[in-house]
Amino acid sequence: MKKDAIKELIAEAYSALKFSYSPYSNYAVASALLTSDGTIFKGINIENATYGATICSERVAVSKAVSEGYKDFVAIAVVTADKESMPYPCGICRQVLSEFSPNMLVIVAKNETLYKALKLSDMLPYKFELKN
Ligand code: ZN
Repeated sequence: MKKDAIKELIAEAYSALKFSYSPYSNYAVASALLTSDGTIFKGINIENATYGATICSERVAVSKAVSEGYKDFVAIAVVTADKESMPYPCGICRQVLSEFSPNMLVIVAKNETLYKALKLSDMLPYKFELKN
């Protein structure tokens, strides 16, 4: 994936950050999920008073995409309002992403210019599968 495309996807993620619902942690996160036909689905973290019902931005983006028939993902950019940390996806999100596109790119950005682009298969080398 070219550098300009990566930066565009990061910008798309930042554009969704204002919608984060994170009153408990104050850790706002947003994602932009790029599908193989170029469609982008954005997600934000949605917290809940029960904590356990909280859903991460990555899974919100995947839910939006899959519920509209998209299952082939090229990359996801994940950003946070906390510009001091890299928002690596949690284990559950890595597993959910890998259900559909284990070789996709995961881009974690500390800010608009400082980011890492990692292969999901490197981040989750032994995903759970019913048959392996
Ligand atoms: Zn997660």
